[in-house]
Amino acid sequence: MTTCTASPELIDDLVSANRILYNEAVVDGFGHVSVRHDRCDDRFLLAAGLAPAVVTADDILELDFEGNVHDAQGRRSYLERFIHSEIYKARPDVVAIVHSHSPAIIPFGVTRATLRPVCHMSGFLGFSTPVFDIRDSDGENNDMLVRSNALGKALADSLGNNDFALMRGHGSITVARSLKLVVARAIWAEMNAKLQTEAMRLAAAFGDGEVNYLTPGEAAGSMAINETVVDRPWQLWKEKAQRK
Ligand code: MN
Repeated sequence: MTTCTASPELIDDLVSANRILYNEAVVDGFGHVSVRHDRCDDRFLLAAGLAPAVVTADDILELDFEGNVHDAQGRRSYLERFIHSEIYKARPDVVAIVHSHSPAIIPFGVTRATLRPVCHMSGFLGFSTPVFDIRDSDGENNDMLVRSNALGKALADSLGNNDFALMRGHGSITVARSLKLVVARAIWAEMNAKLQTEAMRLAAAFGDGEVNYLTPGEAAGSMAINETVVDRPWQLWKEKAQRK
C-alpha cells in the first residue's frame, strides 16, 4: 500500500467519535468505530488496539479491505478488524461502522424478542433485525470473536442490506453513510433497546403484552427527518466528551 494521508478533519472526527461513544456508554474498554478513507478509496481508518476513550490522532491506522494495516509502526490493530474490512467490501454504500458490546442490546440477541423501533430516533433498526450467530460459521467451540476474513464475511452476509445487526452473546454492528450518523445510530440503538425492554415489561405487567411499535412508514419518515439534523446532537456529544 502506498502512503495516502487522510484529511486532518476526518482523523479529528474519528477521534471524537471514539471519545463520544465511550462518553455515551456505547463502548467501554472494547468496541470500535471506523470510517472510509476520504482520499484513497481502497482503505479505511480504524484506531489501533486501544480503549476508545484514550484514542488520539496518532493512533489512527489505515487498513485495506483484507484487514492489512498500512505502515503500522509497531501499533497493533484490533483482532476484530475483519468486521470492518468485510462490511466495506460488501457494502459500497457504507461509509462508517460501529461495533460495540453495549449491554441493553445483548438480550435481544439471545432470546426470541425482536429488536424493533419503539421511538422516533430509531427507525433505522427496521423490523427484522438480523442476528449473527458465530456458531453457524465457527462451530460450537469458538472464542466469540470475528477474528478472520471468513468470519467477517459471514457477519457481512448476515447484515445484508440492513443498517443494524445483533451478534448473539456478543454485541452489535451499526452502519451508516457518514461517521456522525453511525455514532448517532449506535447511541440510539442502545437507547431503543433500553426503552423496548421497559415497554415489554410494562406491557407484560399491566397490559396484554403488546407493545405499540412504530409502523414501517413512521420508522422511514422519522429516520429521514432525524438524519438531516445529526450535526446538532453530534455537537452536544462532542462538547460533553471534551468537558470530561
Ligand atoms: Mn467484539
